[in-house]
This record gives sequence, C-alpha cells and structure tokens, in this order.
Amino acid sequence: DVVPVRRALISVSDKTGLVELAAALAATGVEIVSTGSTAATIRAAGHDVTDVSSVTGFPESLDGRVKTLHPGVHAGILADLRLESHEAQLADLGIAVFELVVVNLYPFVETVESGASPADVIEQIDIGGPALVRAAAKNHANVAIVVDPDNYDEIIAAVAAGGTALKLRQKLASLAFEHTAGYDLSVSAWFTENVYDQWQDDSAAQGEEILEEFDAVIGDALDAEMPFPDTLLIEATRSAVLRYGENSHQAAALYVGDGGQGIAQAVQRHGKEMSYNNYVDADAAVRAAFDFAEPAVAIIKHANPCGIAVASPKTPDSIASAHKRAHDCDPISAFGGVIAANRTVTLAMAETVSQIFTEVLVAPGFEPAAFELLSAKKNIRLLELPADYQRSSLELRQISGGLLVQETDSFENLDSGTWTLAAGDEADAATRADLEFAWKACRSVKSNAILLARGGASVGVGMGQVNRVDSCHLAVLRAGDRAAGSVAASDAFFPFADGLQVLLEAGVTAVVQPGGSVRDEEVIAAATAAGVSMYFTGERHFFH
Ligand code: 5GP
Repeated sequence: DVVPVRRALISVSDKTGLVELAAALAATGVEIVSTGSTAATIRAAGHDVTDVSSVTGFPESLDGRVKTLHPGVHAGILADLRLESHEAQLADLGIAVFELVVVNLYPFVETVESGASPADVIEQIDIGGPALVRAAAKNHANVAIVVDPDNYDEIIAAVAAGGTALKLRQKLASLAFEHTAGYDLSVSAWFTENVYDQWQDDSAAQGEEILEEFDAVIGDALDAEMPFPDTLLIEATRSAVLRYGENSHQAAALYVGDGGQGIAQAVQRHGKEMSYNNYVDADAAVRAAFDFAEPAVAIIKHANPCGIAVASPKTPDSIASAHKRAHDCDPISAFGGVIAANRTVTLAMAETVSQIFTEVLVAPGFEPAAFELLSAKKNIRLLELPADYQRSSLELRQISGGLLVQETDSFENLDSGTWTLAAGDEADAATRADLEFAWKACRSVKSNAILLARGGASVGVGMGQVNRVDSCHLAVLRAGDRAAGSVAASDAFFPFADGLQVLLEAGVTAVVQPGGSVRDEEVIAAATAAGVSMYFTGERHFFH
C-alpha cells in the first residue's frame, strides 16, 4: 500500500516551510506543479517548478479565482489507479497523476480578524483550494494530501523512504476534511453575522444598523450550543420594525418564531401600530388570563396585573363579568391598560371596555358586534390570538454579552388538595376555591408578589417591591376595605413573620404560600395566633 511520489501539486497561501519542502521533493526527483505565487517562491529559491497553467493549458484567470479548477488537474488527483479503466482513461486524455497534493487555504479567518471590508473578505473564500483538498482526501487510496506545514517533515521522510503508506494517507485525509469543514464553518458563521441586507440597501433607515446587530444576536444564539433546542430560536425571523423600543430613542424590532402560537403570531385587527411596550404588556396579559381554564380577564400595566378575575358563576355573559370584576380591582390603574381575555369578546364586554381608555385588547376572537363597537374607537388596538394559543416552552432573556434560557414556568401544585395545612383549620370549600384562584393569579405578578382575592377576583395586588413587607402593605392599601375577609397568596415564602402580620392585621382570612423558610415556625405561629388557615404549596413562582 506504499505509493511512490513522482509528481506533486503544491498550492499554498501560507508559505511556511515551503522552500524546504520543495527542496526535499526536488532532491528525490519529484516533479512539482504549482500555482502563481507558490511557483514564484519555489523558483526564487532555485528549484524547478511547472506552472499549473501549462498543465491546464489555461491561464490562471479572474484574479486567481480560477487556477486549478480544471479536469487536467482534478482527473490527475481523482483517478483511482486500482482500476484499470481509470488508468486507461487518463492515458487517452493525456493526463498525468499526482501522488501528493499540498494545499493550504486562503487566510479567510485572518482576513475577517483584520477588519477587512466585506468585499475583501469574500475574495478570501477559497474555492479551488478546498476542491483540491477534498479530491485528494477522497482519493487517499492513491494520493497523499497535506494541509498543514506541521506535516511537511513527515511527508518528506515518507517520500525519501520510497513513498507514502496507506495509514499515513488515511490520517492526512482525515486532517484534511477537518480542515475544510472548519474553514466552511468560519465562512458560514461570518455570513450569519454579517451579510443580510448590509450591502444591498444603502438607503437603509437609520435604525437599520442596530437591527442588524439584533440579527447577529440571534445568529450568535444559533451558533452557541443552546441547552434546549426550540423552534422559536431556530426559526425566528425579523417580522416587523417597531416604531421604537421602550423609549422613543431606542430602535426596535419584532422577531417571530416559526411554528409558534403566541402573542407574536397574533393578528392585529384594528388600531395604531403595536409598540414594543404593547407587546410586552400584551404577552403578560395573555399569560395571566390563560392561566385559567374558566373565562378570565387580566388587565396589565407596565407588565404587572392591576386586576385579574374569573367570571362569577352563573353570570349569563361570563367574559363580560370577568372583565368587570378585574376592572373593579383597581380602576385607577386600569386606565391605559392592556387587557387580555381568554374567551371571545362579547358585545357586553366591548361596551364596558369602550368606556375605559385601553391601549390593547387581546383575545381569541371578537363577536362581530363587539368588533364593530370597539373598532369605532381610534386608539384601541385589537389583537386576535391564534386559535391554538400556546406559550413557548422556553423563555429567553438577554443579558449583556449573552442570553439566559430557561424552561417556561409551569404550575405544579394547583389543587389545594395537594397543599399542606401549616396553620389554622382546614378552610371551607369557598375559601379554598379563592385560595386556588389567588395562588394562580399571584404567578402573573412580578416578585415580590402578594395578591389578595375574594370571590374569584383580585382585590389588591402588591407587586415588584424589594421586600415582602412592602408588597403586603401595597396589596392591603390597594384593597382598602376589601382586604378584610379576603384571602392572600404570596409567590414565595415569608422570610419573617412581619409581612404576614400586615396581612393578618388587615383581616385576611386565609393564606397560601410555598413555605420553606428557615423561620417557617415564626410565620406559622403568627397565623395560628390569628386563627388564620395557612397552606404551603411547596412550589414558588418567582417572576422577575
Ligand atoms: P498562490 O499563492 O499559489 O497564487 O495561490 C495559492 C492559493 O490558491 C491556495 O490557498 C489554494 O488553496 C488556492 N487555489 C488553488 N487553486 C485555486 C482555484 O482554482 N481557485 C481559487 N479561488 N483558489 C485556488
């Protein structure tokens, strides 16, 4: 399996060790065929070299784009001399074989790193080089391929000893495919990050540059090894340039994932363009409303609910009832809110909504009369959710320099039957139903979250405070005289009894919380002393 080397093709961008290699090959009587500057370097060192153009009968052309891409070269590399037919064809065609190919590729990565222009970078995408490398590596039964100056000594020794062994050629072929694969990966990564519309649209709008950065962020996310595969990540494309971001001086865009059925896929049926903040709030509203199986409405301001309610039982128009009860939680805050309903919007609901300044109303559908009434208002945006609305299974959040990915929060312990009674007596059925409602609704409130509820509606929400005591005060303040007789849910345990104390003093009758604080004993003692039932769910729902 030893192949003696009589003719070698050398075409290298990196000239390291080239002269020594050529000298050693020449000394063993090997004919060297080379391209432009490779040939020039070898000739300048005083060794014989054949120009590839005299092999191809074709000048190196198109600024070097076409040098070795020619049957006269490739047939000489690809012929399998174990087959008589190949040998006969080469003889007919007058083509001589190469037993050794030495190629390293245009310095693509180095050119990118030097900050060269896109046009210069593209010129450094080697075409003929990889073709030579892959051809020789494929035909390693007959040809040795060297892509790295580090392997020159080994090949010089083999040639001098009478030829290359199959084992060596196999090893070199494997290195060669690794080399071309890595090269193509660099090229494709550069395209992902840089190409897009960059050169096509000189008259691009002002925000275009920033948007390209957004594209690159998505590209990076794709390149990075994500812990969870998800269609949202893989298929996301920029679908809309938003008027602006969180503030008017921030450019912004909406990316929509293929195959998703979320708020990004909702169809806007009426109103001004959706803004960045509208989308954030609409997403929070839909998340909250769709946590419930029964008809439910959530009203969101600045990503937090200012009212969540399910329909009161036996109401004829249940979604209208849910909206009215959600609105009543905090009518002041509901002004300019974003409303989500988990059922088709009815005329009765439209009638109440139309009296309240509302930024966005999002729902699975609108009854024709409801749509007619609402669309008469200029300022409200009406969004229709996909029929099979579903949240993504992953949540992504950007931090500087990276991306956080987590599984979407899901409910584990919804049924009060799975909870542990930690203080007081077992609550009656109505109270337990309220606790279950409060526990669900509380999940939509940004931490620290305290939600007071009664009869399937929030009556006071304390959100986003940096300590739980303040969230308790806020919830009680918002509930006013409705705090007494309500039930409370806390998204995470009470680290001390002080927060709970605020709720107890306001007259809360039952509490649900995860439990698990080192001071649970203190907290339980406070509830017991007040004669209030307190349940532990064993699961918290932080929402940051
Ligand atoms: P030289 O410096 O010898 O003029 O060119 C050497 C480089 O040209 C090597 O990096 C090799 O991969 C590349 N090369 C060889 N043949 C071709 C070809 O036909 N087209 C292109 N674009 N590059 C080639």
